[in-house]
Amino acid sequence: MTDTPQLGFDTLQVHAGARPDPATGARQVPICQTTAYVFRDAEHAAALFNLQEVGYIYSRLTNPTVAALQERIATLEGGVGGVCCSSGHAAQIMALFPLMQPGRNIVASSRLYGGTVTQFSQTIKRFGWSAKFVDFDDHDAVAAAIDDDTRAVFCEAIANPGGHITDLDAISAISDAAGIPLIVDNTSATPYLCRPIEHGATLVVHSTTKYLTGNGTVTGGCIVDSGKFDWAANDKFPSLSQPEPAYHGLVFADTFGPMAFTFHGIAIGLRDLGMTMNPQAAHYTLMGIETLSLRMDRHVQNAMTIAQWLKDDPRIDDVTYAGLPTSPYAHLVPKICPKGAGGLFTIAVKGGYDACVKLVDSLEIFSHVANLGDTRSLVIHSASTTHRQLSPEQQKAAGAGPNIVRLSIGIEDAKDLIADLDQALAKAVG
Ligand SMILES: *Cc1c(COP(=O)(O)O)cnc(C)c1O
Repeated sequence: MTDTPQLGFDTLQVHAGARPDPATGARQVPICQTTAYVFRDAEHAAALFNLQEVGYIYSRLTNPTVAALQERIATLEGGVGGVCCSSGHAAQIMALFPLMQPGRNIVASSRLYGGTVTQFSQTIKRFGWSAKFVDFDDHDAVAAAIDDDTRAVFCEAIANPGGHITDLDAISAISDAAGIPLIVDNTSATPYLCRPIEHGATLVVHSTTKYLTGNGTVTGGCIVDSGKFDWAANDKFPSLSQPEPAYHGLVFADTFGPMAFTFHGIAIGLRDLGMTMNPQAAHYTLMGIETLSLRMDRHVQNAMTIAQWLKDDPRIDDVTYAGLPTSPYAHLVPKICPKGAGGLFTIAVKGGYDACVKLVDSLEIFSHVANLGDTRSLVIHSASTTHRQLSPEQQKAAGAGPNIVRLSIGIEDAKDLIADLDQALAKAVG
């Protein structure tokens, strides 16, 4: 169904990538719980291993259930191909892997999921890669941070934890001028609220763990390629533009054109890094995506109602929800995420660290968990959990200071969520 781009989002979230099973007629995508696939004959096997024919060899590389999900997410994002993997963090490493070499760097937003800040500021150093963190509201600073060794610009469309919106058009103009790809983590927005490729993103990464699956059941990740970047325009991306010794000197950019990144992600990335998504996880995520737009509309509606209530509450110093007309990011909503600013924001609680801890412990409907994007409302005190490994300066830059609590607003009745917040604030702040 991907040949029919005129179909609407609600139709594609149910149908893209799925067709009745040719063997059985099964209407729902079967869970192909198999490790390997029988070759027709030795010639067929050789053609598959040489990448001369596309097909299934071994489920570390490809699996039909996972392939259906890859096609569905790529279609919803408006990309040419997708590669699913075992988690959102795996997707980030898989996205960077073909672009990077020892000594290369990325320019990344200082407002990112806490785990991503740790991955980029600490762990990628083991590969000889590094990250420069910049305030992405300061476009001159982003441009100035790019140097000859920079191989990607990285940001979140709606940034965790504060729900701040990135001006993707402005950032992609900067990465385009420098001839490097823009990678956008679209986890918090989802393709229903924001389509980064339409704003110039080269690659979109997801933690499918969050809103795409939507019910807190499985971890997963995905990388979607826009197919628009010319990897062979210069010598910056040799993994894609130079002969690949592991495939008899095949040049991915020449052989696969706009699908070069996707094929590299499967044939080299999954084959050798092995961060594979399993078919059960793909099944849960396919089920979740079928209702994505319905859930996101409710997340947005509830987040708006609750943010408005909190904004006027004397126990709260600040509410970061970009959907509020008073937000400094409100002007970006119609451009970047016209259907709403998502379901995620932070509040600054009077009484600081101690009041925040009390608030989190007193909530009854909201669950205190290190997750977001669930049908259930979730809460976390970032400074004592997800952003604990960060320095006080990094915490502040990431919007996760000691007086800040993050809310991931679920799809329950808004009045019940407000009542829960009201009773917990009474205990925490008085
Ligand atoms: C959760 C999250 C990640 C990491 O994803 P995992 O599936 O937990 O590995 C990355 N980016 C954002 C914005 C997230 O919310």
